[in-house]
Amino acid sequence: MHNFLRGKRNNMKLSLKLIFFIIAASIVSCTKNEVSYVEDSSFADVCQSLPVPANKILPLNDASTEWFQVYESHKGVYSIVEPYQFQMSISHLILGDERALLFDTGMGMAPIKPVIESLTDLPVTVLNSHTHFDHVGGNAEFDNILAVDSPYTRANMKGFSHEEVAGDVIDEAFCNGPPKSLDTENYYTRAWSADNFVIDGQIIDLGNRLIEVIDVPGHTPDALALLDQENALLFTGDTYYDDNLWLFSPETDLDHYSESIAKLSKLENQIEFIFGAHTSARVDAGILSKVKESFSKLRSGKVKPIHEVQDRLIYEIDGVNFVTSKSILAGEKISMDKGASGL
Ligand SMILES: [Zn+2]
Repeated sequence: MHNFLRGKRNNMKLSLKLIFFIIAASIVSCTKNEVSYVEDSSFADVCQSLPVPANKILPLNDASTEWFQVYESHKGVYSIVEPYQFQMSISHLILGDERALLFDTGMGMAPIKPVIESLTDLPVTVLNSHTHFDHVGGNAEFDNILAVDSPYTRANMKGFSHEEVAGDVIDEAFCNGPPKSLDTENYYTRAWSADNFVIDGQIIDLGNRLIEVIDVPGHTPDALALLDQENALLFTGDTYYDDNLWLFSPETDLDHYSESIAKLSKLENQIEFIFGAHTSARVDAGILSKVKESFSKLRSGKVKPIHEVQDRLIYEIDGVNFVTSKSILAGEKISMDKGASGL
């Protein structure tokens, strides 16, 4: 979540996202930020270059709205992107013959269910790549939800308060302003509950399409990936997406992340496409082993961050960017029973 430092290709975008964080943090905490950083860009510049190259090459479906861009990212897969808010969250709808699985429900800033209903008549089951607020925002719109059985997940089911998510609805967070129906003064994510739980290795049968659930803790304790072996597709959530990788939340565990990225990279030779939860709907397989190598360099301590803003550290290692913090690198832990920090 909160991958403010999204532009990995140039420093202009990096500084933009830093500034964005600083603005958001100042508003949330109501304190003047002592960090001085020269702003040379704004999210408006990112907006000008949409869609991102990886999405541009995919067919855009008619179900797209002013808020959601729906891409036909593979046979029987729709990627529902929210490109006009800086998180650029992506939810993926996977269709079988009998059921559909919706992997994440987005920010909850505009109703996602009508979009899903215009794409399929099949009964829809929701499962989240993890329960950070930018992926569970639409959960409350659905009846059938699967989840990880953990105290962390259960705490997040209560929803995220306005205070926790206020930084995501400031004017600078949007390309064209917020969705018309959104009350930004009071935006929060609604509570939801699970109907059933999933475990590592479980197969979800969508009817002539089998989806394997893979535990990939690290980004959060409840992070999941989905493997569609027959079609050679891997859905990686926030464990991997085509942008700056956010390992900054206090609930992030770098030892676990290291094991999870290794686990996913081992699958890579049987995978054709990877579907992450931000920015690009689909990328070619091959990147996970690079992420694994770059991440192990980060943890070796031999590579220095390219930016340091207070506790925050930004690394750019062989083309892969990470955002983490000194406290997470030091292995500081928080209580998972309270759920996500809102970061
Ligand atoms: Zn996240």
